[in-house]
Amino acid sequence: MTPGSSVDLKIKIAGRLACVSPSATLGLTAKAKAMKAKGLPVISFGAGEPDFDTPEAVKEEAIRSLKAGFTKYTPTAGIPELREAVCRKFQEDQGLSYSSENVVVSCGAKHSLYNLFQVLCDPGDEVLIPAPYWVSYPEMVYLAGGAPVFVETFQGEGFLPKPERLLKAVTPKTKILLLNSPSNPTGAVLGRRDLERIADIVLEKGLLCVSDEIYEYYLYEGLTHVSIAALGEEIKNRTFVVSGASKSYSMTGLRIGYAAGDAEVMKKVGMLQDHSTSNPSSISQRMALEALRLPKSYREEVRGIFQKRRDKTAALLSKVNGLRPFMPQGAFYVFCGIAETGLSSDVFCARLLEEAYVAVIPGKSFGSDKHVRFSFAASEKDIEEGIERISRWMGRTIKG
Ligand SMILES: *Cc1c(COP(=O)(O)O)cnc(C)c1O
Repeated sequence: MTPGSSVDLKIKIAGRLACVSPSATLGLTAKAKAMKAKGLPVISFGAGEPDFDTPEAVKEEAIRSLKAGFTKYTPTAGIPELREAVCRKFQEDQGLSYSSENVVVSCGAKHSLYNLFQVLCDPGDEVLIPAPYWVSYPEMVYLAGGAPVFVETFQGEGFLPKPERLLKAVTPKTKILLLNSPSNPTGAVLGRRDLERIADIVLEKGLLCVSDEIYEYYLYEGLTHVSIAALGEEIKNRTFVVSGASKSYSMTGLRIGYAAGDAEVMKKVGMLQDHSTSNPSSISQRMALEALRLPKSYREEVRGIFQKRRDKTAALLSKVNGLRPFMPQGAFYVFCGIAETGLSSDVFCARLLEEAYVAVIPGKSFGSDKHVRFSFAASEKDIEEGIERISRWMGRTIKG
Protein backbone atom coordinates (compact mmCIF):
# COMPACT_ATOMS: atom_id res chain seq x y z
CA MET A 1 0.00 0.00 0.00
CA THR A 2 1.32 3.44 -0.91
CA PRO A 3 1.63 5.85 1.98
CA GLY A 4 -1.28 8.29 2.08
CA SER A 5 -3.71 6.10 0.15
CA SER A 6 -6.98 5.00 1.68
CA VAL A 7 -7.82 1.34 2.15
CA ASP A 8 -11.35 0.48 1.14
CA LEU A 9 -12.97 0.56 4.58
CA LYS A 10 -15.90 2.71 3.44
CA ILE A 11 -15.49 4.95 6.46
CA LYS A 12 -18.61 7.02 6.95
CA ILE A 13 -17.84 10.73 7.20
CA ALA A 14 -19.98 12.77 9.62
CA GLY A 15 -22.93 14.45 7.95
CA ARG A 16 -21.89 17.91 9.06
CA LEU A 17 -19.00 17.75 6.60
CA ALA A 18 -21.36 17.24 3.65
CA CYS A 19 -21.75 20.98 2.99
CA VAL A 20 -18.06 21.78 3.27
CA SER A 21 -15.93 22.04 0.15
CA PRO A 22 -12.15 22.33 -0.15
CA SER A 23 -10.66 25.83 -0.33
CA ALA A 24 -10.12 26.73 -4.01
CA THR A 25 -7.75 29.49 -2.95
CA LEU A 26 -5.38 26.93 -1.48
CA GLY A 27 -5.76 24.54 -4.45
CA LEU A 28 -4.72 27.05 -7.10
CA THR A 29 -1.89 28.46 -4.99
CA ALA A 30 -0.54 24.92 -4.54
CA LYS A 31 -0.59 24.34 -8.31
CA ALA A 32 1.25 27.62 -8.95
CA LYS A 33 3.84 26.64 -6.35
CA ALA A 34 4.37 23.23 -7.94
CA MET A 35 4.88 24.86 -11.35
CA LYS A 36 7.38 27.30 -9.83
CA ALA A 37 9.25 24.40 -8.23
CA LYS A 38 9.58 22.86 -11.70
CA GLY A 39 11.37 26.03 -12.79
CA LEU A 40 8.48 27.68 -14.68
CA PRO A 41 8.49 31.51 -14.41
CA VAL A 42 5.17 31.79 -12.56
CA ILE A 43 4.03 35.18 -11.29
CA SER A 44 1.49 34.84 -8.53
CA PHE A 45 -1.28 37.27 -7.62
CA GLY A 46 -2.81 34.62 -5.41
CA ALA A 47 -1.31 35.56 -2.06
CA GLY A 48 -3.73 36.17 0.77
CA GLU A 49 -1.00 37.59 2.98
CA PRO A 50 1.42 40.53 3.04
CA ASP A 51 4.71 39.77 1.29
CA PHE A 52 6.83 41.56 3.94
CA ASP A 53 8.89 39.83 6.56
CA THR A 54 7.57 39.93 10.14
CA PRO A 55 8.90 43.09 11.88
CA GLU A 56 12.33 42.58 13.47
CA ALA A 57 11.24 43.63 16.97
CA VAL A 58 8.49 40.99 16.86
CA LYS A 59 10.93 38.27 15.85
CA GLU A 60 13.33 39.28 18.61
CA GLU A 61 10.54 38.99 21.15
CA ALA A 62 10.00 35.38 20.02
CA ILE A 63 13.64 34.56 20.73
CA ARG A 64 13.55 36.31 24.12
CA SER A 65 10.36 34.49 25.15
CA LEU A 66 11.71 31.16 24.00
CA LYS A 67 14.98 31.61 25.89
CA ALA A 68 13.05 32.67 28.99
CA GLY A 69 11.13 29.39 28.81
CA PHE A 70 7.77 30.93 28.00
CA THR A 71 6.75 27.62 26.49
CA LYS A 72 3.99 26.32 28.77
CA TYR A 73 0.19 26.56 28.79
CA THR A 74 -1.15 30.07 29.20
CA PRO A 75 -4.70 31.05 30.21
CA THR A 76 -6.95 29.74 27.43
CA ALA A 77 -8.35 33.14 26.48
CA GLY A 78 -4.88 34.65 26.20
CA ILE A 79 -2.26 36.13 28.50
CA PRO A 80 -3.66 39.06 30.53
CA GLU A 81 -1.13 41.55 29.07
CA LEU A 82 -2.25 40.75 25.53
CA ARG A 83 -5.96 40.98 26.31
CA GLU A 84 -5.30 44.34 27.95
CA ALA A 85 -3.23 45.50 24.98
CA VAL A 86 -6.10 44.54 22.65
CA CYS A 87 -8.46 46.65 24.80
CA ARG A 88 -6.06 49.61 24.56
CA LYS A 89 -5.86 49.14 20.80
CA PHE A 90 -9.65 49.31 20.44
CA GLN A 91 -9.73 52.41 22.66
CA GLU A 92 -7.00 54.20 20.73
CA ASP A 93 -8.13 53.25 17.23
CA GLN A 94 -11.91 53.41 17.57
CA GLY A 95 -12.67 54.93 20.97
CA LEU A 96 -14.20 51.57 21.91
CA SER A 97 -14.17 50.69 25.62
CA TYR A 98 -13.72 47.01 26.36
CA SER A 99 -12.26 45.25 29.36
CA SER A 100 -10.37 41.98 29.34
CA GLU A 101 -13.54 39.91 29.95
CA ASN A 102 -14.78 41.13 26.57
CA VAL A 103 -11.73 39.81 24.71
CA VAL A 104 -10.64 36.28 23.74
CA VAL A 105 -7.41 35.63 21.86
CA SER A 106 -7.59 32.71 19.42
CA CYS A 107 -5.46 30.87 16.84
CA GLY A 108 -6.02 33.45 14.10
CA ALA A 109 -9.03 35.60 13.25
CA LYS A 110 -10.38 32.61 11.34
CA HIS A 111 -10.53 30.70 14.62
CA SER A 112 -12.18 33.67 16.36
CA LEU A 113 -14.91 33.67 13.70
CA TYR A 114 -15.30 29.89 13.81
CA ASN A 115 -15.72 30.00 17.60
CA LEU A 116 -18.29 32.79 17.45
CA PHE A 117 -20.49 30.87 15.00
CA GLN A 118 -20.17 27.73 17.14
CA VAL A 119 -21.27 29.66 20.20
CA LEU A 120 -24.04 31.72 18.56
CA CYS A 121 -25.69 29.45 15.94
CA ASP A 122 -28.39 26.91 16.66
CA PRO A 123 -29.50 24.57 13.84
CA GLY A 124 -31.40 26.59 11.27
CA ASP A 125 -30.27 30.01 12.50
CA GLU A 126 -29.69 32.23 9.51
CA VAL A 127 -26.59 34.33 8.99
CA LEU A 128 -26.75 37.15 6.44
CA ILE A 129 -23.58 37.24 4.36
CA PRO A 130 -23.09 39.98 1.77
CA ALA A 131 -21.73 38.40 -1.44
CA PRO A 132 -19.02 38.30 -2.76
CA TYR A 133 -17.70 37.04 0.55
CA TRP A 134 -14.54 35.58 2.04
CA VAL A 135 -14.37 31.84 1.19
CA SER A 136 -14.53 30.49 4.73
CA TYR A 137 -17.67 32.27 5.97
CA PRO A 138 -20.30 29.91 4.51
CA GLU A 139 -18.38 26.80 5.57
CA MET A 140 -17.97 28.09 9.11
CA VAL A 141 -21.69 28.78 9.36
CA TYR A 142 -22.53 25.30 7.96
CA LEU A 143 -20.15 23.67 10.43
CA ALA A 144 -22.00 25.45 13.24
CA GLY A 145 -25.32 24.08 11.95
CA GLY A 146 -26.41 27.52 10.76
CA ALA A 147 -27.69 28.54 7.33
CA PRO A 148 -25.83 31.16 5.33
CA VAL A 149 -28.15 33.56 3.47
CA PHE A 150 -26.35 35.51 0.78
CA VAL A 151 -27.23 39.11 0.09
CA GLU A 152 -25.95 40.11 -3.34
CA THR A 153 -23.90 43.24 -3.90
CA PHE A 154 -22.95 44.62 -7.31
CA GLN A 155 -19.85 46.17 -8.82
CA GLY A 156 -21.93 49.09 -10.15
CA GLU A 157 -23.02 49.81 -6.56
CA GLY A 158 -19.48 49.69 -5.19
CA PHE A 159 -20.03 46.16 -3.83
CA LEU A 160 -21.83 47.73 -0.86
CA PRO A 161 -24.73 45.85 0.75
CA LYS A 162 -27.87 47.89 0.09
CA PRO A 163 -30.05 48.31 3.20
CA GLU A 164 -33.20 47.44 1.18
CA ARG A 165 -31.71 44.12 0.12
CA LEU A 166 -30.52 43.33 3.64
CA LEU A 167 -33.97 44.09 5.03
CA LYS A 168 -35.63 41.87 2.42
CA ALA A 169 -33.38 38.96 3.42
CA VAL A 170 -34.28 39.15 7.12
CA THR A 171 -36.62 36.36 8.31
CA PRO A 172 -37.74 35.33 11.81
CA LYS A 173 -34.75 32.94 11.76
CA THR A 174 -32.12 35.57 11.02
CA LYS A 175 -29.72 35.81 13.92
CA ILE A 176 -26.50 37.37 12.67
CA LEU A 177 -25.40 39.88 10.07
CA LEU A 178 -21.81 39.38 8.98
CA LEU A 179 -19.77 42.38 7.85
CA ASN A 180 -16.29 42.47 6.38
CA SER A 181 -14.92 45.97 5.78
CA PRO A 182 -12.47 46.45 4.17
CA SER A 183 -13.61 43.43 2.19
CA ASN A 184 -11.76 40.41 0.92
CA PRO A 185 -12.22 39.89 -2.05
CA THR A 186 -13.68 43.22 -3.28
CA GLY A 187 -11.73 45.83 -1.30
CA ALA A 188 -15.00 47.72 -0.71
CA VAL A 189 -15.06 49.86 2.43
CA LEU A 190 -18.19 50.68 4.39
CA GLY A 191 -18.24 54.36 5.38
CA ARG A 192 -19.86 55.80 8.49
CA ARG A 193 -23.14 56.57 6.69
CA ASP A 194 -23.40 53.04 5.25
CA LEU A 195 -22.67 51.57 8.66
CA GLU A 196 -25.27 53.75 10.38
CA ARG A 197 -27.99 52.47 8.07
CA ILE A 198 -26.84 48.87 8.61
CA ALA A 199 -26.70 49.37 12.39
CA ASP A 200 -30.31 50.63 12.29
CA ILE A 201 -31.35 47.34 10.65
CA VAL A 202 -29.45 45.26 13.22
CA LEU A 203 -31.14 47.14 16.08
CA GLU A 204 -34.60 47.29 14.51
CA LYS A 205 -34.60 43.54 13.78
CA GLY A 206 -32.87 42.54 17.01
CA LEU A 207 -29.95 40.88 15.21
CA LEU A 208 -26.34 40.42 16.20
CA CYS A 209 -23.44 41.65 14.10
CA VAL A 210 -20.14 39.87 13.55
CA SER A 211 -17.70 42.37 12.07
CA ASP A 212 -14.51 41.00 10.50
CA GLU A 213 -12.10 43.94 10.52
CA ILE A 214 -8.88 42.08 9.76
CA TYR A 215 -7.91 44.63 7.03
CA GLU A 216 -8.52 47.64 9.32
CA TYR A 217 -5.10 49.17 8.59
CA TYR A 218 -5.23 48.72 4.82
CA LEU A 219 -7.21 51.74 3.66
CA TYR A 220 -6.37 54.02 0.75
CA GLU A 221 -7.06 57.58 -0.39
CA GLY A 222 -6.64 58.81 3.20
CA LEU A 223 -9.76 56.96 4.40
CA THR A 224 -9.92 55.91 8.05
CA HIS A 225 -11.44 52.69 9.28
CA VAL A 226 -14.76 52.86 11.10
CA SER A 227 -16.00 49.92 13.17
CA ILE A 228 -19.77 49.48 13.31
CA ALA A 229 -19.31 48.90 17.06
CA ALA A 230 -18.07 52.48 17.43
CA LEU A 231 -21.41 53.97 16.33
CA GLY A 232 -23.05 53.80 19.75
CA GLU A 233 -23.51 51.77 22.92
CA GLU A 234 -26.56 49.86 21.64
CA ILE A 235 -24.91 48.56 18.48
CA LYS A 236 -21.66 47.89 20.34
CA ASN A 237 -23.53 45.58 22.73
CA ARG A 238 -24.80 43.54 19.76
CA THR A 239 -21.53 43.44 17.82
CA PHE A 240 -18.56 41.10 17.94
CA VAL A 241 -15.49 42.74 16.43
CA VAL A 242 -12.88 40.37 15.01
CA SER A 243 -9.33 41.26 14.04
CA GLY A 244 -5.81 39.98 14.54
CA ALA A 245 -2.09 40.16 13.90
CA SER A 246 -1.93 38.21 10.60
CA LYS A 247 -2.58 40.94 8.06
CA SER A 248 -1.68 43.95 10.24
CA TYR A 249 1.83 42.79 11.13
CA SER A 250 2.77 40.14 8.54
CA MET A 251 2.25 37.35 11.07
CA THR A 252 -0.04 34.94 9.19
CA GLY A 253 1.82 31.79 10.20
CA LEU A 254 1.93 32.74 13.85
CA ARG A 255 -1.85 32.41 14.25
CA ILE A 256 -3.03 35.18 16.53
CA GLY A 257 -6.52 36.66 16.18
CA TYR A 258 -9.00 38.02 18.67
CA ALA A 259 -12.65 38.91 19.12
CA ALA A 260 -14.28 41.48 21.39
CA GLY A 261 -17.90 41.63 22.47
CA ASP A 262 -20.48 40.74 25.10
CA ALA A 263 -18.70 39.26 28.13
CA GLU A 264 -21.13 36.33 28.62
CA VAL A 265 -20.74 35.21 25.01
CA MET A 266 -16.98 35.66 25.12
CA LYS A 267 -16.84 33.53 28.25
CA LYS A 268 -18.45 30.71 26.23
CA VAL A 269 -15.93 31.28 23.44
CA GLY A 270 -13.23 30.80 26.07
CA MET A 271 -14.91 27.59 27.25
CA LEU A 272 -15.04 26.26 23.71
CA GLN A 273 -11.31 26.90 23.47
CA ASP A 274 -10.77 25.18 26.83
CA HIS A 275 -12.07 21.97 25.29
CA SER A 276 -10.64 22.28 21.80
CA THR A 277 -7.39 24.17 21.15
CA SER A 278 -6.57 25.50 24.65
CA ASN A 279 -4.47 28.66 24.41
CA PRO A 280 -2.98 29.98 21.16
CA SER A 281 0.80 29.50 20.99
CA SER A 282 2.45 31.13 24.01
CA ILE A 283 5.32 32.53 21.92
CA SER A 284 2.96 33.90 19.26
CA GLN A 285 0.97 35.70 21.95
CA ARG A 286 4.12 37.44 23.18
CA MET A 287 4.93 38.32 19.57
CA ALA A 288 1.47 39.81 19.03
CA LEU A 289 1.90 41.86 22.21
CA GLU A 290 5.16 43.21 20.82
CA ALA A 291 3.47 43.94 17.47
CA LEU A 292 0.78 45.99 19.21
CA ARG A 293 3.59 48.09 20.70
CA LEU A 294 5.05 48.98 17.29
CA PRO A 295 4.90 52.70 16.51
CA LYS A 296 1.99 53.81 14.32
CA SER A 297 4.57 54.76 11.69
CA TYR A 298 4.97 51.04 10.88
CA ARG A 299 1.38 50.80 9.70
CA GLU A 300 1.66 54.08 7.81
CA GLU A 301 4.74 52.86 5.99
CA VAL A 302 3.03 49.60 4.97
CA ARG A 303 -0.08 51.47 3.93
CA GLY A 304 2.01 53.81 1.74
CA ILE A 305 3.64 50.92 -0.10
CA PHE A 306 0.32 49.19 -0.66
CA GLN A 307 -1.31 52.41 -1.84
CA LYS A 308 1.30 52.64 -4.63
CA ARG A 309 0.80 49.01 -5.57
CA ARG A 310 -2.96 49.41 -5.61
CA ASP A 311 -2.74 52.45 -7.87
CA LYS A 312 -0.42 50.62 -10.25
CA THR A 313 -2.42 47.36 -10.33
CA ALA A 314 -5.75 49.11 -10.89
CA ALA A 315 -4.34 51.47 -13.54
CA LEU A 316 -2.69 48.67 -15.52
CA LEU A 317 -5.66 46.29 -15.27
CA SER A 318 -8.11 48.97 -16.39
CA LYS A 319 -6.17 49.26 -19.67
CA VAL A 320 -6.54 45.55 -20.46
CA ASN A 321 -9.24 44.93 -23.04
CA GLY A 322 -12.00 42.70 -21.67
CA LEU A 323 -11.25 43.19 -17.96
CA ARG A 324 -13.31 45.33 -15.62
CA PRO A 325 -11.36 45.90 -12.39
CA PHE A 326 -13.10 47.33 -9.33
CA MET A 327 -11.04 50.07 -7.67
CA PRO A 328 -10.60 48.87 -4.07
CA GLN A 329 -10.59 51.40 -1.22
CA GLY A 330 -9.12 48.88 1.19
CA ALA A 331 -7.50 45.44 1.73
CA PHE A 332 -4.97 44.29 -0.90
CA TYR A 333 -7.03 42.76 -3.69
CA VAL A 334 -8.46 43.91 -6.99
CA PHE A 335 -11.69 42.08 -7.83
CA CYS A 336 -11.87 42.10 -11.55
CA GLY A 337 -14.85 41.47 -13.85
CA ILE A 338 -14.20 38.90 -16.61
CA ALA A 339 -17.74 38.56 -18.05
CA GLU A 340 -16.61 39.80 -21.49
CA THR A 341 -14.29 36.82 -21.89
CA GLY A 342 -17.24 34.42 -21.78
CA LEU A 343 -15.14 32.10 -19.59
CA SER A 344 -16.09 30.82 -16.16
CA SER A 345 -13.74 32.01 -13.45
CA ASP A 346 -12.31 28.49 -12.96
CA VAL A 347 -11.50 28.10 -16.65
CA PHE A 348 -10.13 31.64 -16.86
CA CYS A 349 -7.73 31.00 -13.96
CA ALA A 350 -6.68 27.50 -15.04
CA ARG A 351 -5.91 28.67 -18.58
CA LEU A 352 -4.16 31.86 -17.46
CA LEU A 353 -1.90 29.79 -15.22
CA GLU A 354 -1.16 27.13 -17.84
CA GLU A 355 -0.81 29.42 -20.85
CA ALA A 356 0.71 32.60 -19.38
CA TYR A 357 2.11 31.39 -16.04
CA VAL A 358 0.10 33.92 -14.06
CA ALA A 359 -1.85 32.87 -10.97
CA VAL A 360 -5.05 34.64 -9.91
CA ILE A 361 -7.94 33.25 -7.85
CA PRO A 362 -11.34 32.29 -9.34
CA GLY A 363 -14.19 34.47 -8.09
CA LYS A 364 -16.48 31.45 -7.89
CA SER A 365 -15.15 30.54 -4.45
CA PHE A 366 -16.07 34.06 -3.29
CA GLY A 367 -19.58 33.82 -4.72
CA SER A 368 -19.06 35.42 -8.16
CA ASP A 369 -18.17 33.34 -11.19
CA LYS A 370 -17.87 36.53 -13.27
CA HIS A 371 -14.82 37.82 -11.39
CA VAL A 372 -11.27 36.85 -10.49
CA ARG A 373 -9.23 38.13 -7.55
CA PHE A 374 -5.80 39.73 -7.95
CA SER A 375 -3.74 40.17 -4.81
CA PHE A 376 -1.36 43.13 -4.99
CA ALA A 377 0.75 41.81 -2.13
CA ALA A 378 3.42 41.47 -4.82
CA SER A 379 6.38 43.54 -5.98
CA GLU A 380 5.79 46.41 -8.42
CA LYS A 381 8.02 44.59 -10.90
CA ASP A 382 5.85 41.46 -10.73
CA ILE A 383 2.73 43.61 -11.02
CA GLU A 384 4.02 45.20 -14.24
CA GLU A 385 5.31 41.98 -15.80
CA GLY A 386 2.31 39.91 -14.72
CA ILE A 387 -0.29 42.31 -16.08
CA GLU A 388 1.69 42.69 -19.33
CA ARG A 389 1.46 38.90 -19.73
CA ILE A 390 -2.26 38.97 -18.97
CA SER A 391 -2.77 41.69 -21.54
CA ARG A 392 -1.02 39.64 -24.25
CA TRP A 393 -2.86 36.47 -23.21
CA MET A 394 -6.21 38.25 -23.30
CA GLY A 395 -5.40 39.50 -26.81
CA ARG A 396 -4.88 35.90 -27.95
CA THR A 397 -7.81 34.47 -26.00
CA ILE A 398 -10.64 36.93 -26.57
CA LYS A 399 -11.77 36.94 -30.15
CA GLY A 400 -13.82 39.70 -31.68
C1 LIG B 1 -6.94 36.44 6.19
C2 LIG B 1 -8.36 36.66 6.61
C3 LIG B 1 -8.84 36.24 7.87
C4 LIG B 1 -8.10 35.35 8.83
O1 LIG B 1 -6.87 35.62 9.16
P1 LIG B 1 -6.10 34.78 10.29
O2 LIG B 1 -4.79 34.46 9.68
O3 LIG B 1 -6.89 33.57 10.65
O4 LIG B 1 -5.99 35.72 11.43
C5 LIG B 1 -10.13 36.54 8.23
N1 LIG B 1 -10.94 37.21 7.42
C6 LIG B 1 -10.54 37.61 6.20
C7 LIG B 1 -11.51 38.35 5.36
C8 LIG B 1 -9.25 37.35 5.75
O5 LIG B 1 -8.89 37.71 4.52
